[in-house]
Amino acid sequence: MTGPNKVETKAARGNILIDSAECKGCGLCVESCPPECLELLPELNAYGVHPAQYSGEGCTGCGICFYCCPEPGAITVYRLTPPSKPLTRPDGQSSTVLGESHAAAL
Ligand code: SF4
Ligand code: SF4
Repeated sequence: MTGPNKVETKAARGNILIDSAECKGCGLCVESCPPECLELLPELNAYGVHPAQYSGEGCTGCGICFYCCPEPGAITVYRLTPPSKPLTRPDGQSSTVLGESHAAAL
């Protein structure tokens, strides 16, 4: 079916976890996320900053938030289909496999 009323739904390709205890609230991930699915919480964390959180929809698993985050361990990115080869940051850090239905990609 095509036409102006067609509603397309795309299956989720990624998911992320943000450790609010590690987040410094810089907002770099929020500004860099292409589908704009991150936001800063109104509540303060233990550092007295507004931590980032995932809205729960729209993540593509691109990993941009992971690469721009200055706090190691604050963001873990998951992809529904694991990459063909391991991806590591310039500092050599990578995350461990946590999910049952999909693996941590970055
Ligand atoms: S992995 Fe990409 S799409 Fe998902 S939250 Fe991070 S920047 Fe946004
Ligand atoms: S880039 Fe990292 S430290 Fe900055 S707001 Fe996002 S999760 Fe927090």
